[in-house]
Amino acid sequence: MEKPLENPLLKTVGGIAAERGQQAFVIGGYVRDWYLGRPCTDIDIVVTGSGIEIARELGKRLNTNVSVFKNFGTAMLRAGDMEVEFVGARKESYRTDSRKPIVEDGTLEDDQFRRDFTINAMAWSLNPDDYGDLVDPFGGMEDLEKCIIRTPCDPDRTFSDDPLRMMRAVRFAAQLGFDIEPETFDAISRNRERISIVSTERITAELNKIILSPVPSIGFELMDLTGLLPLIFPELAALKGVDRVGRHAHKDNFIHTLKVLDNVARVSDDLWLRWAALLHDIAKPKTKAYDPKNGWTFHGHEVVGSKMVPRIFRQMRLPLNEKMKFVTKLVFLHLRPIVLSEDEVTDSAVRRLLFEAGDDVEALMTLCEADITSGIESKVKRYLENFALVRRKMEEIEEKDRIRNFQPPVSGELIMETYGIGPSREVGIIKDGIKEAILEGRIGNNYEQAFALMEELASGLGLSKK
Ligand code: ATP
Repeated sequence: MEKPLENPLLKTVGGIAAERGQQAFVIGGYVRDWYLGRPCTDIDIVVTGSGIEIARELGKRLNTNVSVFKNFGTAMLRAGDMEVEFVGARKESYRTDSRKPIVEDGTLEDDQFRRDFTINAMAWSLNPDDYGDLVDPFGGMEDLEKCIIRTPCDPDRTFSDDPLRMMRAVRFAAQLGFDIEPETFDAISRNRERISIVSTERITAELNKIILSPVPSIGFELMDLTGLLPLIFPELAALKGVDRVGRHAHKDNFIHTLKVLDNVARVSDDLWLRWAALLHDIAKPKTKAYDPKNGWTFHGHEVVGSKMVPRIFRQMRLPLNEKMKFVTKLVFLHLRPIVLSEDEVTDSAVRRLLFEAGDDVEALMTLCEADITSGIESKVKRYLENFALVRRKMEEIEEKDRIRNFQPPVSGELIMETYGIGPSREVGIIKDGIKEAILEGRIGNNYEQAFALMEELASGLGLSKK
């Protein structure tokens, strides 16, 4: 395949650099992703000397704005759907007592040496005399072909200098389906405690990328094997293990959770639905009990789990907004469709579920179907058939009763107006009575029947019309 170096933008960059007596290279993710056939819209350009003036000149020629970050010595501009970032080649050295590196100007090779992994350290020359040549002093191409994550220099140093790189190694392994080379892997295990000096925001950004990868369990298993997991996500690590009393053993909830997450990942790219999968059984260790008759139980784990969600979101610096509410709600409701499908699927139970889940009912059903991880085929088949029945009933009932975004057909205002009363217990009782009657299917979700029931309930409460 032809390299994308015919791109006039890159030619122009090379030309500007040469005019100024500098050298320019495309480096990092863009080069890697091109060889892997992955789309990439960020181009990183590293130049000898400063990148800011080159970026300004390019901005002038393209008639586009350039954002300059003087403190970091970087500049960025947009060209079409591409984001092009310029940085001067740097040499970094770290002191052992600080994460802050001493940064000096360096050569291209110095810059490649300070990159995290060999596959991220490859560069294409943009210089007129060897335009388009691959500069790969650390064997990135070989590792790319062998599907290996490896550091360009001593891995202990790489990870100790910036421990976030340990999470990045796991993330790339999960995203690309690569293996972490054994020495690199061992260095992660040895340096794992250093992750504590990295900010939660940076760790969570990598964690989200792991969750969004095609088979997220790969990343979580690697975090477990390297010992990073209990340090960054103790609640998830606590799901590991099997307790046994006599012939009673429960399943390993870590393995189960990862299966559910992979199942969801096969059908949805929604980060928050994937988070719900990760957290759906998070309270199982807390609610675990042994009953000699029934074996292991986890009563109320969906309730306790839903209460743990906001705390975990806060700890992980995840957004405390409607996304968190969505995950909380799904954890809270995740057993409901199962219970529903085990019993006879009654209209009223389906109506109640539609009422509680609202617009998230589709996501809830996806989570519940993913939650079936039994190895017994007949059981899986029975559950899936029951869920299909629940889905059919949901459609029927939603069409008829419009429960999903339930708005009471008789409002509190109308009740107060009709009986000349203010906000009071009675208004609540009548409203609840109407809602219950609709959910139970005793009356339809319409104004006439709701109004008639209001009159009946009001007279039972001794209210008379004004
Ligand atoms: P993605 O866009 O999926 O995050 P990427 O490789 O493009 O992947 P960036 O975070 O944009 O990742 O980083 C761009 C390049 O900068 C990387 O390819 C790598 O060469 C280098 N890099 C990024 N973070 C680090 C780090 N912590 N230590 C060393 N090099 C890094």
